Amino acid sequence: MPLAKYKKKRRFGVTPEPAGSDQRAEKKAASLIYVVQKHRASHLHYDFRLEWRGVLLSWAIPKGPSLDPAVKRLAMQVEDHPIEYASFEGVIPEGEYGGGTVMVWDQGTWEPEQADVNSALQKGDLKFTLHGQKLKGSWVLVRTRGYGKSDGRSSWLLIKHRDQYTSTQDVTEKEPHSAVSRRLLADIARDAGGDAEKAATGDPAREGGGSRTAKPAAARLRRNR
Ligand code: MN
Repeated sequence: MPLAKYKKKRRFGVTPEPAGSDQRAEKKAASLIYVVQKHRASHLHYDFRLEWRGVLLSWAIPKGPSLDPAVKRLAMQVEDHPIEYASFEGVIPEGEYGGGTVMVWDQGTWEPEQADVNSALQKGDLKFTLHGQKLKGSWVLVRTRGYGKSDGRSSWLLIKHRDQYTSTQDVTEKEPHSAVSRRLLADIARDAGGDAEKAATGDPAREGGGSRTAKPAAARLRRNR
């Protein structure tokens, strides 16, 4: 039951997230799915997912990925998600697990750089190449010791390897739109009848008030009061 934890946390009559099938997806294609979902839940984070053995291995990255090899980003491993989750963009109702707005921030495929992926995962040192729209090139996920193990979640670090895609520019600031719909979080929330003001707090602030979002400046003022 690879998705037991995933299913236990969710009420599929209420949330629009995919339930996932009990049968692992049998894929003929050799390519493996890679996706990052930007998720404005109780806290903003980026869910980093790699297809492996019929599920999406998943890590929640509070600060999102960095293209700077000097920057290590904390990545908390969370429950495996169904393959169908990769295309989910929308609103999880408030009060449900992960309630808030979800954006497909980046998508593409990934390739392991090691012959034995299972052993790399077990050792906590997975090297891979991303072929995304925003994230490309060589990366590593390294498991760290001693932190977060009590609740069954292990903590890892996501680090960019030095290559032609390295940059010190903040890719999350520079490219805040959905990879599939070009929408911002606030747009996605509004379109699905969600809380656009809360979602907008996950979108970047724009100078001169030129934002397409629903009064983000006002929302920020209210939040800071
Ligand atoms: Mn999440």
